[in-house]
Amino acid sequence: MRYEEMKPEDYRRAKEAAPIAYIPWGAHEWHGKHNPLGLDTLKAHGQCLALCAETGGVVFPHVYCGFQTMKPHAGFDCTLEFSKECVQLLAKEYLEQLADEGFKVIIILMGHYGHMHQEAIKEVVADFNAKHSDCVAWAFPDYEPTADEGFPGEHGACFETSYMMWFRPELVDLTRLPQEGELDKKAEGVHGLDPRTNASAKKGRDGVNVLVKNAAPKIRELLRNACSRS
Ligand SMILES: [Zn+2]
Repeated sequence: MRYEEMKPEDYRRAKEAAPIAYIPWGAHEWHGKHNPLGLDTLKAHGQCLALCAETGGVVFPHVYCGFQTMKPHAGFDCTLEFSKECVQLLAKEYLEQLADEGFKVIIILMGHYGHMHQEAIKEVVADFNAKHSDCVAWAFPDYEPTADEGFPGEHGACFETSYMMWFRPELVDLTRLPQEGELDKKAEGVHGLDPRTNASAKKGRDGVNVLVKNAAPKIRELLRNACSRS
C-alpha cells in the first residue's frame, strides 16, 4: 500500500486492481508541547492507510507543505510557512503526475486545517476536475466526514492528540503540558477540548473507523463513475 516501499510490479498490480491514489498532506507545525511537529501529516498518513485498506489503491508518501500555519497566525516557532503559490504548484503537479500514471481517483487528505490552505488546494482540485474527464480528485480535511459523528476539527487538542495516540503512541507525551490547573490554550497553541483529560487511543481508533465508514463508500463511487466515463 505504501508507494515508497513497493516494487514496480506490486505498484502496477495495486493500481490496476484499484486505481486510487492517496496523498496525505500536512504542515510542519506546532501542535502543543505534547505532540510531534509532524502531527498533521502523520495523522493523515495513518488515515490514508486505513482508507486504502478498505478501498485498495496506493498511499503516496506524506507531503509536508502548509500555508496559513501557526507561525503567521499565532507566532509559534518550530513551524514552516509555505506560500499559497508553492502549495498550489505542488498540488497541481501531483495531480497531473498521478493522472499520467493512470490513477482514476486521487484523494488529497488534508491533515492541516488552515482555512486558506484548504481553499488553496480545493481551487487546484476544482481546476483539475474541470479539465479531466477520466480522472477525478477529491480534497477534504479528515474531519469533514467525521464531524457530525463527534469527531470535529481542532488543533493539537483532544482529537488530534487521540489520533496520534492511536497511530503513534510513542510520539505523544502529555506530561510535557502543565499538570495543574486550567490549560492556557492560547499560550499552549492548542485549540479544542483539553487533551490531558479527554484524549485517548480509543478515541483515535473510533475516529478512524467513522472516517472509513463515511469516506470509503464515496471514494468507491468516485471510482465507479470515473471508470464508466473512460
Ligand atoms: Zn493539525
